[in-house]
Amino acid sequence: MTETLFTKIIDREIPADIVYEDELCLAFKDINPQAPLHILVIPKKNIVKISDTTELEQDLLGHLLLKAGEIANAQGYGEAFRLVINNGENAGQTVFHLHIHILAGRTFSWPPG
Ligand code: AMP
Repeated sequence: MTETLFTKIIDREIPADIVYEDELCLAFKDINPQAPLHILVIPKKNIVKISDTTELEQDLLGHLLLKAGEIANAQGYGEAFRLVINNGENAGQTVFHLHIHILAGRTFSWPPG
């Protein structure tokens, strides 16, 4: 199994500003924030990208989404936030451990860039 930056954050080998943790996931502030609030929610399970998931991960994926909403709310941005998952290099994925971006605190345009 490939080690990524995010595995190292889960294992506390590199530091991160952790805002939430439970047995299934970890959430921490993005090091290069693209909005006043920019948090990443990651599963502790080593999953490269969402297109690799199956029904086996159904509950885990639901958990990640639920927690993303709760975290946005807890951070004071429950009214308006954007969730983003980049799947694959051409979609902008740079870290190959599944993560949900929570972005909030500014206006977002559509379509996204
Ligand atoms: P993506 O481009 O969707 O793969 O997102 C990867 C995100 O991880 C980017 O927004 C990076 O700024 C963020 N990132 C990379 N290294 C770290 C780190 N050590 N701590 C927190 N966020 C990071």
